[in-house]
Amino acid sequence: MTVETVSTGSSTLYSEMENKTADWKRYFGALNSMFRSRMLTHTPFFLAHAMTFGCNSRCKTCTYWRNIPRMKEDLKTEEVYQLLDEAYDAGMRGYYMFGGEPLIRQDIDKITDYAKKKGFVTVMNTNGSLLEKKGKSLKNLDFAFVSLDYYNDYDDVIRGRSGTFSEVIRGIYELKRIGKTKVALVTTISAMNWNAMRPMAQLASDLGVGISFNSVEQSMDFGQTSSETTPNFDVGLDPAKLKDFYGTLLELKKEGYPLLETENVLQDFVENKSWTCHFPKMFLYVTPNKQVYNCDYSYAYDLKKGTLDQFFKSEAFRSYSKSAETCNKCVRTCVRGYSYTYGLFPRQLWGLAGQARYLFNQPEESCSIDDSPGASRKRLGRSRNQPMQH
Ligand code: SF4
Ligand code: SF4
Repeated sequence: MTVETVSTGSSTLYSEMENKTADWKRYFGALNSMFRSRMLTHTPFFLAHAMTFGCNSRCKTCTYWRNIPRMKEDLKTEEVYQLLDEAYDAGMRGYYMFGGEPLIRQDIDKITDYAKKKGFVTVMNTNGSLLEKKGKSLKNLDFAFVSLDYYNDYDDVIRGRSGTFSEVIRGIYELKRIGKTKVALVTTISAMNWNAMRPMAQLASDLGVGISFNSVEQSMDFGQTSSETTPNFDVGLDPAKLKDFYGTLLELKKEGYPLLETENVLQDFVENKSWTCHFPKMFLYVTPNKQVYNCDYSYAYDLKKGTLDQFFKSEAFRSYSKSAETCNKCVRTCVRGYSYTYGLFPRQLWGLAGQARYLFNQPEESCSIDDSPGASRKRLGRSRNQPMQH
């Protein structure tokens, strides 16, 4: 080994250590912003930004893609930077990107770079279709939550896009190969994939990633839509199925599958316990054209005309935040989980510590999945699964 090789190797190691230190600083900054909110300000620390009205999928459980003609209202790159500056100055340290599909934006790499450089922990919810193509430009994305609703190409039917299953598997493989982004699956359970919970948990386990489950509930549209305009009435879970949904998740959790939900959150859903929702104090939902909406999709504020500080000091924000505490409407496990974390429940914090390994999956863990539908069926047939219908 030459002197030059040794010095190049040690400078690479040094810069890797520097990057890791900077990363931990950002994570602690995000944690600190949560504590500040909890103890002091009671205002959101996560900017949840729907980055575009556009989407390249046509999911059967969603009508958002019908907003595509409104893509011209999406914020321009510089305007997103400005939004990030405003959020940072208001004490936020988490940037949650979703859409529509955030990866259809041409400037997604620049925005992710800017957010991370500014000091945000960067998180993206994506349908995964463009991950393989854009993975290399996402070196500053910390976490990717990738939607996948089935364990073979029936996923293409649910997501309304041919080739989705393969794209997602190859995209996850690519992110793991690059090794900069932690990956987890997000599976939305509806009447279309009711039989898929166990196989999906198995698939996540085989891929070496965590998994979080959502459910579609029939009437969970907060009155924004009607049976003519929402698919939920047809594919949502009725109350009996919802109860089974939580029961199955609890079973899977106890069996050691890599679910991101903690056991106490699932147990409390099974026992139908009431809880205090802190969602408005954690997340600020901003639309692609910079409007603030509440968690029930009611309009809240025009960020083009006023500041975040003015909004957080308003009576409207305070009363929204207060009324949320007793709402109890959400069927989503993540919202209850976030609220328990914000409430600093010891059992929740203990549960999160125990499962951090599912989220902080190591890049060197190889992804051994063959993405062809036939291979997927064969492999899952050998696993600990119940019989499957598709
Ligand atoms: S990918 Fe997301 S936004 Fe697009 S259609 Fe599916 S659920 Fe809706
Ligand atoms: S429980 Fe109610 S207040 Fe909390 S996020 Fe859900 S709908 Fe909003």
